[in-house]
Amino acid sequence: MNVRMTRRDLMRLLSAAGLGSAFAGTVIPETSGEAKGTPVPERKLIQPTTRSYPSAALRHGAVVQPERTLPVLQRVDVLVVGGGAAGFAAAVAAARAGASTAIVERYGYFGGLWTGGLVLLVIGTHARDGDTRKKVVRGIGDELLERLTRIDGGIINQGPGRFNPTVDPEATKYLMDEILGEAGVKVFLHCWGVDAVMEGRTVRGAVFESKAGPRAVLAKVVVDATGDGDIFAAAGAEHEQRLHAIGLVHRLGNVDRVDRAKLKQAGKGDGHKMLGARTPLPSVTWVNLRGPSTNGLDIAELSRLELQHRRSIWQRVQKLRRMPGAEDLFLLDVAPQLGVRTTRLLAGTHQLTYKETRDGKRFPDVVAVGGAQGARHAEWPIPFGVLVPKKVDGLLAAGRCVCVDSRLIEDMRLIAACLTTGHAAGAAAAVAVRSRCRPRDIDVGTLQTLLTDQGAYLGL
Ligand SMILES: Cc1cc2nc3c(=O)[nH]c(=O)nc-3n(C[C@H](O)[C@H](O)[C@H](O)COP(=O)(O)OP(=O)(O)OC[C@H]3O[C@@H](n4cnc5c(N)ncnc54)[C@H](O)[C@@H]3O)c2cc1C
Repeated sequence: MNVRMTRRDLMRLLSAAGLGSAFAGTVIPETSGEAKGTPVPERKLIQPTTRSYPSAALRHGAVVQPERTLPVLQRVDVLVVGGGAAGFAAAVAAARAGASTAIVERYGYFGGLWTGGLVLLVIGTHARDGDTRKKVVRGIGDELLERLTRIDGGIINQGPGRFNPTVDPEATKYLMDEILGEAGVKVFLHCWGVDAVMEGRTVRGAVFESKAGPRAVLAKVVVDATGDGDIFAAAGAEHEQRLHAIGLVHRLGNVDRVDRAKLKQAGKGDGHKMLGARTPLPSVTWVNLRGPSTNGLDIAELSRLELQHRRSIWQRVQKLRRMPGAEDLFLLDVAPQLGVRTTRLLAGTHQLTYKETRDGKRFPDVVAVGGAQGARHAEWPIPFGVLVPKKVDGLLAAGRCVCVDSRLIEDMRLIAACLTTGHAAGAAAAVAVRSRCRPRDIDVGTLQTLLTDQGAYLGL
């Protein structure tokens, strides 16, 4: 017998069995679209969200935003802006160190380019150590990777003797939600950070645009993990801005049904190269795209590339589907997030150079350790100064926008390094709060002890 049960029926049954609250957040999908007979939810009239401030005005041809007082959404010890690999690790580290912590993200999920950009391959987890490889991503980043191994289809290439794992984006988002929740981090999604709240030269919080209008979150320390340095730029921190290749990643489905030999023959050696790289799902691959080097902060360029890349991906996949052997293949999805590699880089109290990393320079204030593409070269210590703005206080940077020279960008922007600099920035923010001092003045020994207690590897 095929009995169709609605969510409401199920909740009634569960609560009769005393299980209602345990499943209160569970979504029971409908079997089809807005099916006839589906109970219609109450469309209750509520008080409209009001604006207590005037609109922008057009005055003598210029658009002027009048002075206004903003509602404060939350007051916390540590505010992390941006929930990519770096922001995730920063928020978890700060919260676990006892700081009340909030994370604000412009989209509806965590992981940034890693999950939303569908950049699934975590490069830089290991470094060369003589004839062997040493894992440099430990602590919060590695905990996430390890926990992914417990999810069927969550990750491949993670475990002893393996390096550079590939993750499933949905499993990663799911676990990030879980780990942030366990750490007690207050989460604000769908909020776009647009300004820093300043008191003199010190950042005291940030302003976000939301569906309900602009809101502020106040904090003792703010970690800018936006990837593009949106908050340190708004705070007036010194920085540089660079062009880099902007791509767009996509995934293919039914790849396991492709007759590669037939495709290779038909495509004169080309078609099989368009199939992309493995993911934890046997039928799915991800396909990287480099794209032209341009300005990732220019909305005209971002719009142009989004449209251009999506069109070319669609055309490439259609072409592929017409090749013998690849008929069952299909475009599973195009990343919801454009692949911006580098834009702003902080001018920190230390600019880490490529030469320093290849010379094996050691730093007494090491807070993280970088790995290598394919674990080809030795580990490189990352000093605290790459996270600390030269002059602005109350702020740290993490992830792909920290202070490095142009040659080191390619190493520092790898996901593994973003996880470890994020971990370091979050822990440093918590130490500053605990010590009631500016982040630049914290006792680095105390930070290093906290980081190693939290499982991080400092190469010391
Ligand atoms: C096409 C492409 C391919 C790549 N390939 C690889 C690879 O194979 N392996 C590898 O290791 N690395 C790769 N990288 C690099 C790597 O993916 C990124 O550098 C890394 O994921 C960056 O992490 P992040 O946390 O610093 O920044 P992001 O992932 O950019 O995260 C920033 C987060 O902040 C949010 N945000 C931004 N601005 C705001 C704001 N104003 N307010 C609120 N939220 C905001 C974003 O939505 C995002 O969630 C690739 C990058 C690209 C673009």
